[in-house]
Amino acid sequence: MPASFLPRLISKPFQDPGLYIPFSFIKRAIIFDLGDISHLSPKDILKASHVFISHTHMDHFIGFDHLLRLVLGRTKKLCLYGPEGFIQNLEGKLSGYSWDLVENYENMLILEAAEIHQTHLLVQTYICRNRFQPTSPPLKKPFTGLILDEPGFSVSTIILDHSIPCLGFSMKERFQVNIKKTALQDIGLTPGPWLNDLKQALFDNKPADSIFKIPAGQASPIAQCFKLGELSSRIAKITPGQKIGYITDVRYTPENLKKIIPFVQGADHLFIEAAFSDAHADIASTKNHLTARQAGEICGKAGAKRFTIFHFSPRYSETEALLYQEAEDAYQKAFSNETPSRSTGVIKAIE
Ligand SMILES: [Zn+2]
Ligand SMILES: [Zn+2]
Repeated sequence: MPASFLPRLISKPFQDPGLYIPFSFIKRAIIFDLGDISHLSPKDILKASHVFISHTHMDHFIGFDHLLRLVLGRTKKLCLYGPEGFIQNLEGKLSGYSWDLVENYENMLILEAAEIHQTHLLVQTYICRNRFQPTSPPLKKPFTGLILDEPGFSVSTIILDHSIPCLGFSMKERFQVNIKKTALQDIGLTPGPWLNDLKQALFDNKPADSIFKIPAGQASPIAQCFKLGELSSRIAKITPGQKIGYITDVRYTPENLKKIIPFVQGADHLFIEAAFSDAHADIASTKNHLTARQAGEICGKAGAKRFTIFHFSPRYSETEALLYQEAEDAYQKAFSNETPSRSTGVIKAIE
C-alpha cells in the first residue's frame, strides 16, 4: 500500500531547490520552496494547496510567478508561508504587474500569506478581484511552531540562521491506513475508488458509528452501507504515519544544529541541502550553507531512516558522486553512534 505522501525533489540537485509532496489518494499537494518549478506539470502545480517558502533568496522564490500565472482566474485559495519579511517580498512581486482587468474575473482566487516570526505570525489576505490589494493590516497570531494542523497531517517549522532567517519544515502524517486484501475478499468486496473515500473518512476523523456508503458498482453490483468503525477495523490496518523533513540553506553552527536535530528526529525521509564538499567547508561557511559531510552527520544524529541531499554547487557537476559518498559516510558514522539499527541511507535525488 503506497504511503499517503510521496515526496520528490522538484528539480535535479544542481538546479533550484524545492520539494513536491503529492497526496496519494486525493488531488492535492504541498510544496516546500518555489525555485524553478517548470519541471512540474501544470496539473501537478494546480494541486498545491499550501506552499512553504524557506526564505526568499531568488532560487527559492522565483517560481512564485509561474505558480501565480497558473492559478490566476481560478477559484482557489492558496496558502503561503515564509519567514520575516515575506509579506513585503510577496507584495513586491504582486505589485510588479498591472491588474486592471481582474475585477471582471468570474472565479475567486485568494492568496493567504503567513509571515513567521519568533513569537507570532502575521497573516495577510489578498483577493485577486481586489487587485491583490489588502483591505486591512495583517492579523497577528501566536506562533508555536505548528503552522498547519489538519486531521490527517500537520506541518511544523523552525527558524534557522542563513545570515537571514530561513525556515526548516517538517510534515507529519497522523497515521497510515493499509488495506488488508484478504479481509476485503472475506467480506466479498473488491477494491475501487471507495477505498480512497474510506481512507479520507478516517483521516477526517469521522465518528466510528457514522455510515459509510460504497456506491453501486464500486465494490459489488449494489450499493452497500457499513458503520465506518466496523468496516475499518475489519479491513484496515492503522500504522504510524511518516515524517518528512526539509532543511535547506543553513549555517553549520551549534545553534542551528541544536534546533535542527530534535526537529527532524526520527524522520522517515529527510531532504537536506549539501551545497559543498567538506574540502570546501570554508566556502560553505562563508556562503552560509552545509557541506555533504555536515548534512550526512545531521541526518545520522537525527536518526533519519533515509535522506536525500540536494542544492549542489555547480562546481561538482563532474564529481557529484563524491557528495553522495561523503554524506553517506558521515551519516553511517553518526547514525551508528546514535542507534544500533541500520537504515536505508542516502538516496540519490534523480537516478
Ligand atoms: Zn539562500
Ligand atoms: Zn539556496
